[in-house]
Amino acid sequence: MWDVIVVGGGNAALCSALMAREAGASVLILEAAPKAWRGGNSQHTRNLRCMHDAPQDVLVESYPEEEYWQDLLKVTGGQTNEPLARMVIRESSTCRDWMRKHGVRFQPPLSGTLHVARTNAFFMGGGKALVNAYYRSAENLGIDIMYDAPVDDLELEQGKFVAARVGDLRYAGRACVLGCGGFESNREWVREAWGQNARGEWPADNFLVRGTRYNMGAVLKVMMREGADTMGDPTQAHCVAIDARAPLYDGGIATRLDCVSLGIVVNCNAERFYDEGEDFWPKRYALWGRLVALQPTQTAYSIIDAKSVGRFMPPVFTGVKAATLPELARLLGLDEVAFVRTIGDFNAACRVGTFDHTIQDDCHTEGVLPEKTHWARPIDTAPFYGYALRPGITFTYFGLTTDEKASVFFDGKASPNIFAAGEISAGNVLGKGYTAGVGMSIGTAFGRIAGTQAAAAAKKLKEQGAAHAVA
Ligand SMILES: Cc1cc2nc3c(=O)[nH]c(=O)nc-3n(C[C@H](O)[C@H](O)[C@H](O)COP(=O)(O)OP(=O)(O)OC[C@H]3O[C@@H](n4cnc5c(N)ncnc54)[C@H](O)[C@@H]3O)c2cc1C
Repeated sequence: MWDVIVVGGGNAALCSALMAREAGASVLILEAAPKAWRGGNSQHTRNLRCMHDAPQDVLVESYPEEEYWQDLLKVTGGQTNEPLARMVIRESSTCRDWMRKHGVRFQPPLSGTLHVARTNAFFMGGGKALVNAYYRSAENLGIDIMYDAPVDDLELEQGKFVAARVGDLRYAGRACVLGCGGFESNREWVREAWGQNARGEWPADNFLVRGTRYNMGAVLKVMMREGADTMGDPTQAHCVAIDARAPLYDGGIATRLDCVSLGIVVNCNAERFYDEGEDFWPKRYALWGRLVALQPTQTAYSIIDAKSVGRFMPPVFTGVKAATLPELARLLGLDEVAFVRTIGDFNAACRVGTFDHTIQDDCHTEGVLPEKTHWARPIDTAPFYGYALRPGITFTYFGLTTDEKASVFFDGKASPNIFAAGEISAGNVLGKGYTAGVGMSIGTAFGRIAGTQAAAAAKKLKEQGAAHAVA
């Protein structure tokens, strides 16, 4: 019997396990992945969005609570729980000393990511180094860790955790933290959630999974079966437009394409469909997966010309290159006439002022729909480049309802000993949309809270048990 059983082995789970152990609890981590693939989506991350009122080591200037909140409000369109969101924001200003204590190191942003130097603290060595540091610290603190341990069932008694099951094995605990991610890797569930569109397509069949293959939502399904309160829309997810040549799983950050705001994006009919210059890319990139998912064949093409080369993070795959626009259309398999017309109309509509990709500049279009509101320059300088895009699902937002203590609810009543953190409950703060780095802020804040609460719940149950035995 352990005090706290932590299901999952990514950032949220590890933060919970470490906090529970620091509070004196005995802890067991059950991680579905083998050791080499431990760490879930967290192993693919790069940074954490942090509130700060003045410059702090790797963070420049300031990023006050109100600005962070307004950013979150904007991207979620109000689909967020303000008290929980503000709690995450405040926690993000104080968690880094604790992270350092457990071996996480930060570094200033590299060129190409300088636009987030004020808001996001980068992990030295990326998310893989972060999870490795936490695992090392967990081992040093005497936390038990089991790999290849996908929990497929939970034993609950009236909303109270009793044990977790991995096949025939049973692990009993006084409290439990569910930090086992969303259901993005479960292609059947995502297919069912997205359904069939008016064109008769099953859009999710063309999605790629950017991260781990182990976030199958098995425990979320069990919790639904047991009557836990859920929130969110199963189709809502962090979904990015990524290179169509990316692998089905674990392509990670390198398959993302960051040149959308520098050029135009067309669908398979060679038509534009959204304002490519709506806002800075870190605030918009998570919209584009969904936008591409809504297009026929769930494929789109990011088109740039020679002027944009060197102005965005180099992608892992080279673009399709052509000396002329008709040749580019042919190479991409697009209708030449339609493609050349779309670009001609766009070019004619460009009102170029002073191009500056670091601010929302005055280069915009007039008289073309959809308009491009910033960074609009004619695509007229050879060579031209095209990148086929497909939706890359990062994590789902549908999950368990939680409160400020990370408690899980049954019929509106908080469970005394089940807590949730990370993707499995991120939808409480992130109903839709995304702003870079907030996933790790949510997981770190709720992970730490869930660990502390689980340790306290276990202690209480232990004391009650001892009192009962004496009586
Ligand atoms: C390519 C990529 C880049 C990203 N970059 C960033 C970034 O820079 N900043 C940011 O804030 N966010 C980023 N994110 C999002 C971020 O990864 C998530 O918000 C965050 O990692 C969620 O943490 P988590 O612990 O909830 O989930 P995960 O890290 O996915 O961990 C879930 C864990 O649960 C385990 N698990 C699943 N099912 C079971 C089961 N049944 N039994 C036992 N274990 C189970 C998995 O194996 C895994 O270890 C990125 C995501 C991806 C894919």
